[in-house]
Amino acid sequence: MKRVFDHIDFTVVGHLQSLLESEGIRTEIRNEGASRAAGELPISEVYPELWVLDNADEAKAKEIIREFRQAAETAPTGPDWTCPVCKEHVEGVFSECWNCGAASPVVG
Ligand SMILES: [Zn+2]
Repeated sequence: MKRVFDHIDFTVVGHLQSLLESEGIRTEIRNEGASRAAGELPISEVYPELWVLDNADEAKAKEIIREFRQAAETAPTGPDWTCPVCKEHVEGVFSECWNCGAASPVVG
């Protein structure tokens, strides 16, 4: 057994578990109830953990997890845009103008 991942949010751990299982890797989640109280801080710092049952699957599992984290970190936020109303420069992460509240003209 090897622990390959842990995260405060159980839904992320569960998502990765199904990713690994779909690749034929047998897994187990520990501390499943650690963050059960949604919207509240966990009482302890025990996070849900994802383990692979077969140590031989560890490298493959970590590779899948690495790709998953990269994809999450590089999620597109859209390019910066210029407000059509007040001509303010607005960063791509915002969907409306921070200055006047106009909606972004950038589609998608
Ligand atoms: Zn504006």
